[in-house]
Amino acid sequence: MSANLTADEMIALIRRIVTEKIAPRAAENDATRTFPWDNLHALGEAGFFGLILAEDAGGLGASRSGFAPVVTEIAKGCASTALIYLSSCIVAKAIELGGQAAIKAKWLPRILKGECIGAFAFHEPESGSDSSAIQTRAKRIGDFFSVNGSKFFITSGDEASVYLVLVLTGADEAAPELTTLLIEKDMAGVSFGRPEDKLGLTSTSSRQMFFDDCRVPVANLIGEEGQGAKVLGKAVVGWGLFGAAAISLGLAKAASGIATRHATTRMIGGQPLATHQAVQFMIADMIVSTEAAEALLMACANIADALPETAAFHGMKAKLFASETAVNVTNTALQVMGGHGYCRDYVVERLLRDARGLLLHFKTSEWLRQDIAHMATRV
Ligand SMILES: Cc1cc2nc3c(=O)[nH]c(=O)nc-3n(C[C@H](O)[C@H](O)[C@H](O)COP(=O)(O)OP(=O)(O)OC[C@H]3O[C@@H](n4cnc5c(N)ncnc54)[C@H](O)[C@@H]3O)c2cc1C
Repeated sequence: MSANLTADEMIALIRRIVTEKIAPRAAENDATRTFPWDNLHALGEAGFFGLILAEDAGGLGASRSGFAPVVTEIAKGCASTALIYLSSCIVAKAIELGGQAAIKAKWLPRILKGECIGAFAFHEPESGSDSSAIQTRAKRIGDFFSVNGSKFFITSGDEASVYLVLVLTGADEAAPELTTLLIEKDMAGVSFGRPEDKLGLTSTSSRQMFFDDCRVPVANLIGEEGQGAKVLGKAVVGWGLFGAAAISLGLAKAASGIATRHATTRMIGGQPLATHQAVQFMIADMIVSTEAAEALLMACANIADALPETAAFHGMKAKLFASETAVNVTNTALQVMGGHGYCRDYVVERLLRDARGLLLHFKTSEWLRQDIAHMATRV
């Protein structure tokens, strides 16, 4: 992709890729739980994995308000592909912001081309959304860390080549610090559980990840030792929440469009469904709430672009509203389509299953509400 493309040209390009390549494979990939490497290679060939990286890191330097519409378009065709894409983009962003020169040179060119992908591994079986409750430890031994512990529900499972892993470090066991390490899949001591058998987002190959005396060079630190919360804040929260909101928006847009078209062609007693007031109300609700989610996402993205230090607060609001809207809109779309909507051939049942996963991804709605209120009321 040329760095000179306008925003409209970029959207036209991603729409073409989604229409020609990504959307046609989505139903089969969902049914067979196939990891969508073909889609990822298509996005890589077109340059989309470099979208949010700075130009001097080989990227296109897009803002959050430029990134979100691209993610939305991918999610309209396949939310699993969009989630894998988002995870890899934020890992690349973390490498750009906090990786040493040798690590950047080793991984960024390959990730940007879509030859390999990154994933993030923060959550643990006992920690949920609370990163301060993690237990995976990295003990410093000379030029290495010895990592022991496990991570839970990692998008891209064992398909990624590098994992941004949140660990505890520090000599004082009673007061450990959060640190982020880039752990390579092929390092000794790394292993994976079986793919989780999920309701939706079935092509994302979510797995548990285990570290058994995994020796990670100190050179693989992302950010300073003890500064993991900063990496998490800048790359994952600062960009990931907007991406997750954009995936939810894509699902709502797709479902609203499919159900609205269905209502104009499905005849009941000689009349299109769309002539019935009860159905019209559902269509109006889908349209208004989807547009509201888009307006909030873009408003929050624009503020965060101008004031990056506020990105977490605005990203949480956008993700909370868009993910809840996506569940409501996809559910309403299924209702508009009746029994057809409940069948795989009509797509919206997949959109509803996928939307449900976004309510849990990264931070649940409950955590988002707590954190938004906490940020708004702290003195
Ligand atoms: C599709 C999908 C993709 C994911 N991808 C990744 C990934 O790539 N990398 C990664 O690290 N993780 C990933 N996760 C994990 C995800 O971040 C966690 O599932 C999420 O943080 C919730 O944790 P939990 O599942 O352990 O739920 P729990 O923590 O057990 O929570 C259960 C319920 O209790 C509520 N709850 C928990 N604690 C509190 C509290 N203190 N106050 C109020 N309510 C509370 C929660 O909101 C939730 O409703 C993914 C999850 C999903 C579903």
